[in-house]
Amino acid sequence: MSETESVSHSDASLEAKRQMEICNACRYCEGYCAVFPAMALRRDFAAGDLTHLANLCHGCKGCYHSCQYAPPHAFGVNIPATFATLRAEGYATHAWPAGLGALFARSGTIVTLVAVLAPVLALLLAMALHDPATLYTAQTGTGAFFRIVPYWLMMVLAGGSFGYALLAMGMGAARYWRATGQRAPGPAPVAEAAFDILTLRNLGGGGHGCNDIDDRFTMHKRWLHQAMFGGFMLCFAATTTGAIYHNVFGWKSPHEFLSVPVQLGFWGGIGMLIGTSGLLWLKVRTDPGPVAPALLGGEYAMLALLWLIAATGLLLLGIRHTGAMGVMLALHLGLVIGFFLVMPYSKMVHGVYRGLALLRNAQERRA
Ligand code: SF4
Ligand code: SF4
Repeated sequence: MSETESVSHSDASLEAKRQMEICNACRYCEGYCAVFPAMALRRDFAAGDLTHLANLCHGCKGCYHSCQYAPPHAFGVNIPATFATLRAEGYATHAWPAGLGALFARSGTIVTLVAVLAPVLALLLAMALHDPATLYTAQTGTGAFFRIVPYWLMMVLAGGSFGYALLAMGMGAARYWRATGQRAPGPAPVAEAAFDILTLRNLGGGGHGCNDIDDRFTMHKRWLHQAMFGGFMLCFAATTTGAIYHNVFGWKSPHEFLSVPVQLGFWGGIGMLIGTSGLLWLKVRTDPGPVAPALLGGEYAMLALLWLIAATGLLLLGIRHTGAMGVMLALHLGLVIGFFLVMPYSKMVHGVYRGLALLRNAQERRA
């Protein structure tokens, strides 16, 4: 028995198996996405295979809107909602440490609580570190931010929470890799999967996009997702560049508006604002039929948290020479640290699992 076969089916997995068997007999949607060609390679569906197929699905909803067996048909085929439920179950099963997988079931509440509590705690910490008057006094010149929160403390809190997020997601990815029976990849599948991930090629469907709101195909989700993802990466590059400036060259923030870290952060923040606002707008307007309602709370909360991080980052840039800088810095830092802590137990892990599913798909296509 293979490792994938040794994992037993849950209720969501059994439902996905039932629907995949119908699809495998029908195959009408073969050209829609990578899921159906991958499905066609199989006659039977072990639990690990279904988890892999669920992570290969990017929820474009195309198969739902074109399916003659979708509800209200008695077969009740609803691949996007079923796979979304199965993906969430997989995130919880493979979470690290194992006990924290239960947080996925309350993702909306957890993310909302963290988004409220983390900035409040950061604000209280900043007030405890200095005379509160320092917090409301305009700080200018080199090292202004570190008169509110010392550099070493910023590194410990942000670096520590980010390191934890990377460790937890890495461990989760390793558990997923083993449970779905994946093999060590060669360089060609890795390059192919990296291209797919960076370009979000699959979100383009066969060139026609997704059924974002109803049965019309659009590219909105792809471009908005790209704006959010690109913006996030630019913000990450801004932080890394700022750290290099500080530690290698001794150039302390705040930097000029036209400096590299500020420009990366500014355009990154704009991209994240556009992406998250647009994705929230699509989520509100979309047809609820192919959506898993239990997961919506966590998705809304995470998009809202990302929006707040971008908004407070841009506001911080705008008011950094005023007396409001101290409070805004504490709020922004709190949101960022809260985001890192909750990241391994939220929708954000979909990037990791989806990346691994694309890698396995590239391996299977070559085999
Ligand atoms: S989703 Fe419906 S139309 Fe598409 S392959 Fe499955 S059963 Fe056929
Ligand atoms: S929702 Fe889109 S990506 Fe997912 S299986 Fe259906 S067609 Fe493929």
